Amino acid sequence: MAELPVAAHWIGGEWVRSGTEGDSIDPATGAVIGRRFVAGRDEAEQAIVAAAKAFEQTPWRNDRDLRARVLSWIADAIEARTDDLVAILGLENGKVAAHAKVEVGIVPDCLRFNAALALTEFGRAASAKPGALSLVVRQPAGVAGIIAPWNSPVALVIRSLAPALAAGCTAAVMLPFQTAQTNALIAEIIAGVEGLPKGVVNIFTGGHEAGDALVRSPRVPVISFTGSTATGRAISVNAAPRLKRLGLELGGKTPMIVFNDADLEATASGIVLALTVFAGQFCMTGSRLLVQQGAADRLIAEVARRLEAVRVGPAADPASEMGPLIDKPSVERVEKMVAAAIGFGARVHLRGGPATEPPLDKGAFFRPTLLEVTDSSLDIVQEEVFGPVLVVQRFADEDEAIRLANATEYGLSASVWSRDVDRPLRVALALESGTVWINAWAAMADQFEEGGFKQSGQGRMRGLAVIDDFIEYKHIALMATRPAN
Ligand code: NAD
Repeated sequence: MAELPVAAHWIGGEWVRSGTEGDSIDPATGAVIGRRFVAGRDEAEQAIVAAAKAFEQTPWRNDRDLRARVLSWIADAIEARTDDLVAILGLENGKVAAHAKVEVGIVPDCLRFNAALALTEFGRAASAKPGALSLVVRQPAGVAGIIAPWNSPVALVIRSLAPALAAGCTAAVMLPFQTAQTNALIAEIIAGVEGLPKGVVNIFTGGHEAGDALVRSPRVPVISFTGSTATGRAISVNAAPRLKRLGLELGGKTPMIVFNDADLEATASGIVLALTVFAGQFCMTGSRLLVQQGAADRLIAEVARRLEAVRVGPAADPASEMGPLIDKPSVERVEKMVAAAIGFGARVHLRGGPATEPPLDKGAFFRPTLLEVTDSSLDIVQEEVFGPVLVVQRFADEDEAIRLANATEYGLSASVWSRDVDRPLRVALALESGTVWINAWAAMADQFEEGGFKQSGQGRMRGLAVIDDFIEYKHIALMATRPAN
């Protein structure tokens, strides 16, 4: 039997094999696919020390030209290893190839956009009054602590790491144990990029303990966190004694709002995609369907028909359209939420649930589910499910649609479907949401900001604002000591 790969940490330019040893699991079969080390406080501290040393002792913080070149080279290196990244996301993360290709495919452009930011986002100069010259320079904050979740590890770590590097920060990056093999491949690819000084990027696999070490360290002034709202809140509390800069990209409960005049064919396929990409384990998963009464019966029936036809299976089977959840406990958790909603009176349009027949029963498969409710206070409406469960509510008019859409604590994204010109824009302006798509879902662009209103986060990723998490502004005022003659 071939030896299993061992996923180690990459710290200070060296591979480090320490922490708690365990198995990496294929969520589609339950098979062991490798060994992994999970970092604790010691490894997190090593990564912080390496990043702090690189910040002080290498040219990184002062050489924006070097940073731009290295970011472009990382983009090239990732592009060249696309197939390997897609393969490991399929095996370890359960993503079918089409979904994994989207995740990996957006990464090179994100890096190249940030390479451009490294060269262009540097401050301004002006004379506010005669004889005075003011310079505002933007300087890197120092060591950035980056924490990303397992649901899109490649795209999400780069989304934070690229602007941190563009700004001139060095980084201690923690990625989750569920994707240890993927983390090690990302580290291996970045490690091979020439010109990147040792210790500028440090990547380790960890959990709560190592993440907490980053959050509490006095040497890490900035935390860029992507994960759940509950963990975001805990991080805010634990970072408060050090007054850290926090970028928080948290949970979501994206409403898909459909008016009577929408193109129902296009809408139905948009809704199915929004629910089934990454098996609903996506912060922007379209987990709520708000539909106007006149279109409701037809749309619900069509969406149920299409969801039932989704081919659920392992990424290894090219016919699979939706992969498994990340692990069996997630299947149990999602099933409990569905059962509770039904217990509270939810009407069942499609009762998916855990796959119980062989060979899918060995994996963490959950078939799409479609429920309808009238009570917005139910957990199934208020809480993130993180699985392919769609909950429908009907509305009478625009005001009710907006009220229902805004009735959760989340505000990450929303989607409006209508053929009208004025209404979608009016609704978009009234929604409490960081991103609103019109007749589309999950259309993102590096040039435009992305992030959450309300409990979905603070700060912004992408766009020009992305750099703000990682820099300090410094005003240098120069006064003429001699009057002009
Ligand atoms: P999670 O919050 O449970 O964990 C995220 C990471 O934080 C993990 O690596 C975990 O070990 C670590 N962690 C846990 N407690 C910590 C602490 N006290 N201090 C520091 N680190 C700690 O999230 P998850 O279940 O891994 O990911 C799914 C969540 O992420 C969902 O809520 C999803 O919506 C959200 N998410 C948000 C975005 C976005 O852009 N807004 C993107 C993807 C995922």
